[in-house]
Amino acid sequence: MKPEKIEGFRNSLLKWYHKHRRPLPWRMNPTPYRVWISEIMLQQTQVKSAIPYFNRFVKRLPDIASLAQAPVEEILALWSGLGYYSRARNLHKAARKILEYWGGIFPNEYKTVLSLPGIGRYTAGAICSIAFNQPQPVVDGNIRRVIVRLNGIRSYIPEKYFWDRMTEWVPWEKASEFNQAMMELGATICLPAQPLCPRCPVRRYCLAKKQNLQSTIPLTKPRKAIVKVGVVILVIRYRGKVLLTRQDDSFIPGKWGLPVRIVPSGQSPEETAQSLNNKLFGGRLPIESLAVLKHSITHNRISAHIYTGNATGIISELLEAEGRTYWANDLQLDGMLTSSLFRKAVQRCRK
Ligand code: SF4
Repeated sequence: MKPEKIEGFRNSLLKWYHKHRRPLPWRMNPTPYRVWISEIMLQQTQVKSAIPYFNRFVKRLPDIASLAQAPVEEILALWSGLGYYSRARNLHKAARKILEYWGGIFPNEYKTVLSLPGIGRYTAGAICSIAFNQPQPVVDGNIRRVIVRLNGIRSYIPEKYFWDRMTEWVPWEKASEFNQAMMELGATICLPAQPLCPRCPVRRYCLAKKQNLQSTIPLTKPRKAIVKVGVVILVIRYRGKVLLTRQDDSFIPGKWGLPVRIVPSGQSPEETAQSLNNKLFGGRLPIESLAVLKHSITHNRISAHIYTGNATGIISELLEAEGRTYWANDLQLDGMLTSSLFRKAVQRCRK
């Protein structure tokens, strides 16, 4: 876009945004804390799915102090179902740092925000622009698509190009609204498959529209292949409690989980369940197949074979002595099981 057109482009976009923006909960009262939580949630989650999580999270933990002082298990439980749990752990670490160094007041200096755990260039830019109205650029998937269409770009271009354009376009006095307007345009009008060009407020500035190339820009990359995974999960009970194991190297998130193992190729779920039984209980615990649950984690499509069994007193003592297991009651399970797959498995056994 030519420099002399930028002003008109901004005005058209901002006018449209004032009229058509969605009333999202984090846009009401956009404090740095609320903007931060929402931006971290939206990194890998659709707006529609993030809304109930956001509302629940800020109701329970309304500010930096309450987040910093909450047990990590509680934060992970509030995050359960959103996936990518390192995000929740980093929120906790960052809140503790803010409480310790800045008395619980969110820092407003870009470099300081960028230094917080879990905050990269995008999130730092979003917080500083949306909450503090600083002219910092933001670039996400929606904004990249809008930029390549507006500029009619038909080749792969380096990431720097997008940041340079946003740095050039973001206005000093209306950075918050401009950045949100760019995101909103990508999310509601300049859609990936079928952009709604007749309703677009900046169509007269758009080279893709001018050349009728909206459906071929941007170039699409091949999708990541779906991987099918079979796992065996044991729900072992003893006196109303359920056995949890530490899962330091598991692909399922969380510090504690149900005993789980991937079914190797060439092995049946029964054989995998038996070998897990051998490892944990020396093969002495009678277990039975209960159900198969379907679950997705990113591009993995998981078939989870649930087996149940009741432990005896001796087995329970042996496991406790080992120190890598824990017998959790119902209340503890809610806090300790952060994976929604594990929670579903326990739920299924309660039926
Ligand atoms: S005119 Fe169409 S392709 Fe261009 S920015 Fe607007 S919605 Fe996107």
